Amino acid sequence: MSEVLKPDLCVIGAGSGGLSVAAIAASFGVSVVLVERDRMGGDCLNVGCVPSKALIAAGDRARSIRDSGRFGLERAEPRTNYARVRDHVKGVIAAIAPNDSAERFSALGVRVINAEGRFTDPRTLVAAGATIKARRFVLATGSRPAIPPVPGLSDVLYLTNETVFELTRRPERLVVIGGGPIGVELAQAHRRLGAEVSIVEAGRLLPREDAELASVIERRLAAEGIDIRMGAAVAVEGRGDRIAVLLEGGDAIEGSHLLVATGRTPTVDGLGLEAARIKTDRSGILVNRALRTSNRRVYAIGDCAGDAGAAYRWTHSANHQAGLVIRSALFRLPIGLDAAPMPRVTFTDPELAAVGMSEDDARAARRPFRILRWPFAENDRAQAERATEGLVKAIVTPRGRVLGCAIAGPHAGELIAPWALAIRKGLKAQDLAGTVFPYPTLSEASKRAAVEFLRPSAETPWVRRLIRILRLFG
Ligand SMILES: Cc1cc2nc3c(=O)[nH]c(=O)nc-3n(C[C@H](O)[C@H](O)[C@H](O)COP(=O)(O)OP(=O)(O)OC[C@H]3O[C@@H](n4cnc5c(N)ncnc54)[C@H](O)[C@@H]3O)c2cc1C
Repeated sequence: MSEVLKPDLCVIGAGSGGLSVAAIAASFGVSVVLVERDRMGGDCLNVGCVPSKALIAAGDRARSIRDSGRFGLERAEPRTNYARVRDHVKGVIAAIAPNDSAERFSALGVRVINAEGRFTDPRTLVAAGATIKARRFVLATGSRPAIPPVPGLSDVLYLTNETVFELTRRPERLVVIGGGPIGVELAQAHRRLGAEVSIVEAGRLLPREDAELASVIERRLAAEGIDIRMGAAVAVEGRGDRIAVLLEGGDAIEGSHLLVATGRTPTVDGLGLEAARIKTDRSGILVNRALRTSNRRVYAIGDCAGDAGAAYRWTHSANHQAGLVIRSALFRLPIGLDAAPMPRVTFTDPELAAVGMSEDDARAARRPFRILRWPFAENDRAQAERATEGLVKAIVTPRGRVLGCAIAGPHAGELIAPWALAIRKGLKAQDLAGTVFPYPTLSEASKRAAVEFLRPSAETPWVRRLIRILRLFG
């Protein structure tokens, strides 16, 4: 007989978003049922952020061995044992897994059900032998790789983020379709570990990022020997044990392995959303700015939420949305998605991090703004580390209020944090310029960009007036 559960909260999906909701709710003593059909930890832990960053770390070590000549050490060519690299990646996942485990959540008081969840009506979800009638539901079912309709692709064996971390032998020649964050991160890591790598991208690399900064990454990838092909893949062919990607214009690239990294598609199938009267579109589960679906008992967060919710599909945005849902579902506080600027990082070397408005956004908004730049070549620590590529580029109002910042450079993901705080708190470039930063640190590049605001520029009103007066006097 089916067990009937009546918790305050039922969370479907134990990835970044779902686990955060369940942990916070349980810490307030709320009764929670957590339904997960696959592995606890979701994509981030098992096939996303964690394995990719572990692989990138292995690639970094390989590069530093290769690069050691610049530091006065004997240069060497690293010998990659790919099976052991995979063990390292699996070891990192295993070290973090206990935090996300069913045991930990059970100890917190969460009832964990390892089964697929499916709505049977607007108030009821079934999972294995349980019928769950919760006061509120939170859908956090994530996303999966989007596979483009390229002729021939379905006839060959290709890799995605769900399979690439399982390889025990290094791909001899890897062709990556897709030049977004996942594609470029994995391309660079494999190149550094000794594979021949090509990236095929229809537009430009990192198309959502500032073009000036994306070109810093592109130059580095090319310098490391990655073959970057701009143009759409029009067909894929299996040629014996090789795979060929045919490009518009007639070129073909052959590889031993093909990785498809062409975006993500929300996981909404099998959930019985129609029975629950929950609407979806191509971007995912439709939510309003308070993350509620068309069924007001049900919220959706993280990668499965449609455009209004998941403007960016990142672990930290899923975590942030989890906190918002707790405020709304448990404390009935009003919530809105705009409150926090959402930073994003591409973990190539150099990294590319951005938060708030880009130069293009500011131009599109037709509002006056200034750009403040500071190159890492002018930063003493970057010189010492021989990591001088890239720059800090901040967008501020004519009075200095920070609207956005993008950084291409060493540890850009760490350096972006004060800029996110500045936007959140309405701080000005003058606030950063007046703050003492320790020497010699990479973060001084941010301060120097801010100090640029104080340098008279032709855009400053009093300088414009001065120029006009000088012109009057010929
Ligand atoms: C290669 C790669 C690298 C990435 N790197 C980063 C990074 O560096 N930083 C970053 O912030 N983000 C990164 N991301 C994105 C990040 O992984 C996702 O944004 C994040 O995992 C989304 O969390 P989520 O809770 O929405 O979904 P997920 O973590 O995917 O969890 C969803 C869970 O729901 C379960 N589920 C689905 N349907 C059902 C059902 N019917 N019943 C029960 N369970 C169900 C799934 O099995 C899954 O476990 C990366 C992604 C990839 C693919």
